[in-house]
Amino acid sequence: MSVRVRFAPSPTGPLHIGNARVALLNFLFARRHQGTFLLRFDDTDRDRSRPEHVAGILKDLAWLGLAWEGPEYQSRRLAQYQAAAAELRERGRLYACYETEEELAGKREALRRRGRPPIYDRAGFHLTARDRARLEASGRTPHWRFLLSEQSVGWHDLVLGERRIPLPSLSDPVLVRADGTPLYTFSSIVDDREFAITHVIRGEDHVTNTAVQIDLWEALGENAALPAFAHLPLLTDEEGGKLSKRLGSLGIRTLRDDGVTHEALACYLARLGTTGNAGISSLESLAEGFDLAGFSRSPARFDMHQLLILNRHVLQHLPFATVSAHLPAGATEEFWNAVRENIDLLSEARQWWEVVAGEIVPVAQEGEEAFLRAAAALLPPEPWGAGTWKDYAAALTAATGRQGRALYHPLRLALTGEEDGPSLASLLALIGRARAAARIEEAARSTA
Ligand code: GLU
Repeated sequence: MSVRVRFAPSPTGPLHIGNARVALLNFLFARRHQGTFLLRFDDTDRDRSRPEHVAGILKDLAWLGLAWEGPEYQSRRLAQYQAAAAELRERGRLYACYETEEELAGKREALRRRGRPPIYDRAGFHLTARDRARLEASGRTPHWRFLLSEQSVGWHDLVLGERRIPLPSLSDPVLVRADGTPLYTFSSIVDDREFAITHVIRGEDHVTNTAVQIDLWEALGENAALPAFAHLPLLTDEEGGKLSKRLGSLGIRTLRDDGVTHEALACYLARLGTTGNAGISSLESLAEGFDLAGFSRSPARFDMHQLLILNRHVLQHLPFATVSAHLPAGATEEFWNAVRENIDLLSEARQWWEVVAGEIVPVAQEGEEAFLRAAAALLPPEPWGAGTWKDYAAALTAATGRQGRALYHPLRLALTGEEDGPSLASLLALIGRARAAARIEEAARSTA
């Protein structure tokens, strides 16, 4: 049996890290087993699905380094869902319901007041043909619910272990809206059958859907093999809160624009929730070692700090040719080599470019006027090269007796406006004599 998995985003918003992780893990699983990774857009919700989100998701997945079969669009497969609905109807498993949202809310409220769980009462199922005709004559259009069986559904989850959910504890789910479009629970299963999906790997928020979907799968006929299921515990933020609340804005696009590299993000997301080591590896080697059994059953904590450590590591090894398009206009290879050891995010290179070629905010340095005046006077004549800083520092030591931090720290503040950063040896050459002299003189004046 060849492995076939799918990633099935609803294009109702940008791709965020939780979803990107699910996509990546599906991709790695497929690679690990020489299988197929299918991309499917769950876009039957006409009001909330948007083409710009489809485009954004495609771009983000490609940026992460993923390749897929498809994409398939559920909105183009409505005939298949209608055919499956007709089958269910024939088998007595899909029934028409006519309640409005308000009526349903009223029913739930009444149950709650009596201390009962808000489970749908199957009023629609008990309607006679004459009841239905009357309701339709009065202008009501039905939506359609699936008649759940009375069983308790169990499966061996590849991440969570044994799971069992009694179906009588759930409401019969709506599978088809009044406008005829299918709901996700339904279209997803029709597609998983048709595309012969062997493993459904998704977030833990779908566990209850799985029980319903297994029942639905059986109702549609045993002629297709049920896939295995793996549910990944959701991500939490650093304090253990629900990620979507506080870091919900952590879109892949935002991370990319901030200068997180795809290498760092992929390595981080691939191992989040496992005890795997945190180094940088290619997607191929991540796939080689990929094992769903390595994922914890408890929520995984998204830690920006860990991601930035990986990112820093990636940036240190990125050659100029790879990043030049993302650097400010005019930035040279010398500049990149000087700053790449000192940044967590590519976007920080822009700030260093300002330091090198733009304006800085001077920092007042009390008591340093005499030293700074000497430093301005001793700046060596051009041309400047690799040895300039060394000669300059030696001359300054000879003239002022200073060395070490006492020597370079006031200069660093005067030249860069920052407490720390790339080595002064490389920065000084990049800043150049005229700008360096002006900054040191300005610093001396402002300390007076
Ligand atoms: N469209 C669903 C979602 O984004 C897919 C869930 C699944 O993988 O079945 O949550």
